[in-house]
Amino acid sequence: MRNSLLIGLLALGTGVLAQEKMKPSATEDWQNKPAIVSPGTKSGAPSDAVILFNSKADVAKWRGVDTTAFGWEVRGKTLRIRKNGKDIETLQSFGSVQLHIEWRTPDPKEDTSTSRGNSGVFFMGLYELQIYESYAYETKLYYNGIAGSVYKQYAPLVNACLPPHTWQTFDVIFEAPVFSETQELTQPAYMTVFHNGVLVQNHVALKGPMTYAGIPQYKAHAAKLPLRLQEHDSRVEFRNIWVREL
Ligand code: MG
Repeated sequence: MRNSLLIGLLALGTGVLAQEKMKPSATEDWQNKPAIVSPGTKSGAPSDAVILFNSKADVAKWRGVDTTAFGWEVRGKTLRIRKNGKDIETLQSFGSVQLHIEWRTPDPKEDTSTSRGNSGVFFMGLYELQIYESYAYETKLYYNGIAGSVYKQYAPLVNACLPPHTWQTFDVIFEAPVFSETQELTQPAYMTVFHNGVLVQNHVALKGPMTYAGIPQYKAHAAKLPLRLQEHDSRVEFRNIWVREL
């Protein structure tokens, strides 16, 4: 006991000495030069972003899931879910990304259903960040199912929703899960989410892919997969969608 205390004190003393002898330049980084990125181009996206939707031409970057036809409506710079139009996914596959997406739930006068505004962003087509009409909890739903939840896993830290039919933003850091060569999970997926600029998910470890009933379970998959947007009986609109690969 006494010996280990002595060794500890000696080590501490040596550390302090080393600290005093260190020149400021010893801790300067001249190797890892950050690349230059213009934060706000004309479209609002950073210069190194992959634009996924900002105009009609961008429809070519998407396809219908379980169908060959692209079933959603494009009006100017807005993409709108067509009921029974099926989910859509990107042609390009992604792993870890920074994502920006703007969305708007339907006008309550046009859509009076209790599942108004139901949609979702599925990272890698599997991990859902929920979109829903959740302003002031006007539409009743369990808390890990409201907007900004990792669906059925994590309720948002706060409810930062804007009133129905108002444009809202999600800014997300998604870290893809890592699997070993023997298909075992070595690192779960992580999500950090800002909803309208407010932190609602703080680097939460995902329990597995979105599972409506039951406990989520990871299953090994490719390192990159398409990003999916959900059609769920409600005409949610989207605009200004971009990702930066991490
Ligand atoms: Mg959903």
